[in-house]
Amino acid sequence: MALIVQKYGGSSVADTESIKRVAKRVVETEKKGNKVAVVVSAMGDTTDDLIDQALSIDSNPPEREMDMLMTAGERISMSLLAMAIHAEGSRAHSFTGQQAGFFTDARYGAAHIKAVRPDRVKNALSLGDIAIVAGFQGINAKGDATTLGRGGSDTSAVALAVALGADICEIYTDVDGIFTADPRIVPSARRIPSIDYESILEMASCGSKVLALRCVEYARRFNMPLHVRSSFSRRPGTLVVPDGIDPRTLPNLD
Ligand code: ASP
Ligand code: MG
Repeated sequence: MALIVQKYGGSSVADTESIKRVAKRVVETEKKGNKVAVVVSAMGDTTDDLIDQALSIDSNPPEREMDMLMTAGERISMSLLAMAIHAEGSRAHSFTGQQAGFFTDARYGAAHIKAVRPDRVKNALSLGDIAIVAGFQGINAKGDATTLGRGGSDTSAVALAVALGADICEIYTDVDGIFTADPRIVPSARRIPSIDYESILEMASCGSKVLALRCVEYARRFNMPLHVRSSFSRRPGTLVVPDGIDPRTLPNLD
């Protein structure tokens, strides 16, 4: 049995039908005998829409209130996903960043994770439940909600995987992994089946942005294997693994 963290990005949970599809995939992973913790982004363009709403009211909104607002997006997707899993006949429990033990510094809008103490997530997993965690958010020393910067749910997922001692962190997106170039622009682009952290970081500094830079740095620091794959297909994706690890030994590759 493996402990797997799955992260689903905004395009994978864009509407309720997508959330139901994701729930099926989560339950399928659980039914294979794995423990599963899921990190979700906000649905589709929710975060952008929230920012637009704020700016239509105040061109210079207070940072604290912006983070209060933006953390709402992930709370919607986490609870709807928990319901969709319940409707599939499995047990799921959702947690905000605060409830999942994400402690950050005080930089609203670009907070850094200082510690992750996911006691409630561990407890849910030990009871046989699926744990759903809101990505992109934590709590500062004052007890206020903070966000990690745009695209921050990838980092939440890796940080949770490290704190739980997971076997792998799967990043589900709308492309079949990492390619030598953007396949939507360069038709001859090839999928990279497996790659190390350094090469990904080099690609990211050249503007390739399938994964948030901070998430890869975090994974490298703790040697957490990543599997970037599409939630819309069954294709194999890209494994990002530490040197010396045989990618074929990792769980849930099919
Ligand atoms: N919802 C946030 C954003 O759009 C976080 C994320 O998607 O990772 O930036
Ligand atoms: Mg998003």
